Amino acid sequence: MRAVIMAGGKGTRLKEMTRNEIPKPMVKILGKPILEYQIDVLKENGLKDIIIVIGYLGYKIKQYFKDGKDFGVNITYIEENEPLGTAGAFYYIKDYIKEDFILLFGDIIFDVYLKKMIDFHNMKNSYATLFVHPNSHPYDSDIILMDVDNKIIGFDSKNNIRTYSYDNCVNAGIYIISSNLIQKIDELKKLDLEKDILSKEINEENIFGYYSSEYVKDVGTVERIKKTSKDLQKNILKSKNLKNKQKCIFLDRDGTINIHKGLIVNPDDIELEKNVAEAVQKINSSEYITVVITNQPQVARGLCSIEDVENINKRLKTILGEKGAYVEDIYYCPHHPDKGYPEENKKYKIKCKCRKPSIELIEKAVLKYNIDLENSWFIGDTTIDIQTGVNAGMKTILLNTGEAGKDGKYDVVSDYICNDILEAVNIIIK
Ligand SMILES: [Zn+2]
Repeated sequence: MRAVIMAGGKGTRLKEMTRNEIPKPMVKILGKPILEYQIDVLKENGLKDIIIVIGYLGYKIKQYFKDGKDFGVNITYIEENEPLGTAGAFYYIKDYIKEDFILLFGDIIFDVYLKKMIDFHNMKNSYATLFVHPNSHPYDSDIILMDVDNKIIGFDSKNNIRTYSYDNCVNAGIYIISSNLIQKIDELKKLDLEKDILSKEINEENIFGYYSSEYVKDVGTVERIKKTSKDLQKNILKSKNLKNKQKCIFLDRDGTINIHKGLIVNPDDIELEKNVAEAVQKINSSEYITVVITNQPQVARGLCSIEDVENINKRLKTILGEKGAYVEDIYYCPHHPDKGYPEENKKYKIKCKCRKPSIELIEKAVLKYNIDLENSWFIGDTTIDIQTGVNAGMKTILLNTGEAGKDGKYDVVSDYICNDILEAVNIIIK
């Protein structure tokens, strides 16, 4: 597979670093140009045939990388005589590319196990695959709407006023594009990939979101470059590559993240516990990922539907997002084993393997995110949570929020007891 990097960006917001002397992708982070970080990751993934689309001050890129040999890759350059947006250059690329290809925007720093994304793209027989992930500012980002199979069903622009709760799912700037898509571009003109192409094609073709916890950040501002420099120094990029085992902090939901109010059946009842946003932000900035594991027997009891639980979880993600925090995933068990109640939903009144303290949901997360349980933690407010963590071979922290361990269901001792989630996260992340 070949890779195409769109490196024509001017970097207006980075003027103090470019001084109008270099194009944006040549801005250095810890002494190395953004573009070189990208080429290194492509090379590590075995992608050595690279096309770079250059524009503004593009000759500086050519001067630095030449034919790519010194960097262990082969580089072909395509020059835009005028800025063509994020996809106008497809008109030129189609002469070079007859197969599906990786597309990168030139202002991102990332470390991704691309083989996994390529496998996903092939398995779905996808027309275009977008790398999507949660970020710390979904409220002012374009949101990607997907169905349960990760098929993209809509794009919600940041300029729209959102009156609904949504999954924190944002486009990261890494794509796999099918050759069929670019062959359709028959006119040289300015094109925006999302607005002019993808948002139309989702009605005709199967376009998918590849959801991942890996590190991909847009470094289009000085502040973001500073943040990414620190992350590079702490080796967070490499450690979050899904080729490597991940450390995870598993969190219970009710009583741990949101205030315990019995069985929640209404999104409006989601209200964050104290210090939650700060605690989750701290996890987000660390090498840990975070996954929520929750029992929601309301469904089995007939108090609400699966869709209601999904909406309640979206509400939680939206509220966290408004405060600059996110969880990678929420897994829930809708079942309950005790039969015989009048309103019960029989389909879910079963003895399942996903209800905590069983660990089937954790095992699902382990597979999806390549998690190393020995170096992971479970934080919760009940003895059920602690027993779950113990059953999965993790370290555990009981919180004094929510039920504060007074449920008395299991005779189990946690590694630590903390007053709230922030205190717990501070023990894990020093
Ligand atoms: Zn279950």
